[in-house]
Amino acid sequence: MYWDATIETLPDERLRELQLQRLQDTVRRAGQSPFYRQRLAQAGINAEPLQSLEDVRRLPFTTKDDLRAAGPDMLTCPLTEIVRLHASSGTTGQATVIYYTRRDIAAWADLVARSMFMTGVRPGDVFQNMMGYGLFTGGLGFHYGAELLGALTIPAGAGNSLRQIQLMQQFGTTVLHIIPSYALYLLATFAQGGVDPRELHLRMAFIGAEPHTEEMRRRIEEAYGVKAYNSYGLSEMNGPGVAFECPEQNGLHVWEDAFLLEVVDPVTLEPAGPGETGELVFTSLTRQGMPILRYRTRDLASLYPEPCPCGRPHRRISRIQGRTDDMLVVKGVNIFPIQIERVLLARPEVDANYLVELTRENYNDVMHVKVEVKEEFFQEDLRYLQRLQKRLAEALRNELLVTPKVELVEPNTLPRSEGKAVRVADKR
Ligand code: ADP
Ligand code: ZN
Repeated sequence: MYWDATIETLPDERLRELQLQRLQDTVRRAGQSPFYRQRLAQAGINAEPLQSLEDVRRLPFTTKDDLRAAGPDMLTCPLTEIVRLHASSGTTGQATVIYYTRRDIAAWADLVARSMFMTGVRPGDVFQNMMGYGLFTGGLGFHYGAELLGALTIPAGAGNSLRQIQLMQQFGTTVLHIIPSYALYLLATFAQGGVDPRELHLRMAFIGAEPHTEEMRRRIEEAYGVKAYNSYGLSEMNGPGVAFECPEQNGLHVWEDAFLLEVVDPVTLEPAGPGETGELVFTSLTRQGMPILRYRTRDLASLYPEPCPCGRPHRRISRIQGRTDDMLVVKGVNIFPIQIERVLLARPEVDANYLVELTRENYNDVMHVKVEVKEEFFQEDLRYLQRLQKRLAEALRNELLVTPKVELVEPNTLPRSEGKAVRVADKR
């Protein structure tokens, strides 16, 4: 069962042909914007079309700073043809603005609907969209896709935990869209109200918008009694609907009819070797108002070489390992917050939240890891907690090669966010 059988089952060769044709169209179209007209001229790319998909490497990269500086100079059409704008959540500085024509909005909704349909959402499902509505793309992006698919869509928005639970009960919600760290926080509100999420009608959750581990997914699946699917996107490439897990839950299919993917070494910018982790670089293939060439996402992942058992020719990427700008350098060692999460959540005593604090003492980096421990374990005697603390510190050292100071804290005491989780406080 496919949302778009033609595109989802296109033989690989045809898919690559389609990509090349769309890449050529995109370069032509991008050249109509003041920003790319100049960029392409500088790079010596003129009317002569690209001959093969590898030729994409002749095109210049585009970065977040480029988008910030260029603003509406990225547009290929007059503002009268633009019907919406979004801004990236500004996780790493001033937000970037993305403009959409009516066709861009429709094409985006179609990709989201395709993604949701792939995992089994159908008309008749009740879809509770617990992402921020507004400038963030996660809310409206999924909203339009879910409506197009024909699910009953509840625009719940972010936060307001008690109300979220009431909505699930009142309308028999079957499918959630939720930020994974928030899904774990929400469990405390469920517990306070004496409600077991497994006894509601929930059967599926889409989790995305922030890096998370397999451990996190399993915890959400178990606590909510759902299948949880990883959903990846970024405003620069519409928003959600760029790459999505299929029922195999093993890697995310990139919708390659809409996005041309490269994985590059973030330092040399040369292609990463097969299966090697690198920075994801996307070229939009169908966007009209604001096509983007070779966008450097700063997201790190690897490309799966093997085809997926589900039969879709769209290649898969691993889950995101981190962002290049998330990387911490502690005592000269490179560390991603996700590595810390993997170690912590592997222990049943560890609760929903953790925070990494970096300070400098006597010119030395010190890493503090504050970990919430579940209520029932916190009541254990002091020796038990000391042992746990020691075990966590050892496990972290084995993974990171740096010995952190571990501090155990009571559940729900660390700062929480209704949007993307903030895991690191770098006070150096
Ligand atoms: P910002 O870059 O300001 O956070 P966006 O709202 O566009 O703005 O967020 C896109 C980013 O969110 C991606 O580049 C990625 O870092 C992160 N992200 C989105 N979905 C996922 C996911 N499923 N797994 C890991 N990271 C994700
Ligand atoms: Zn698949």
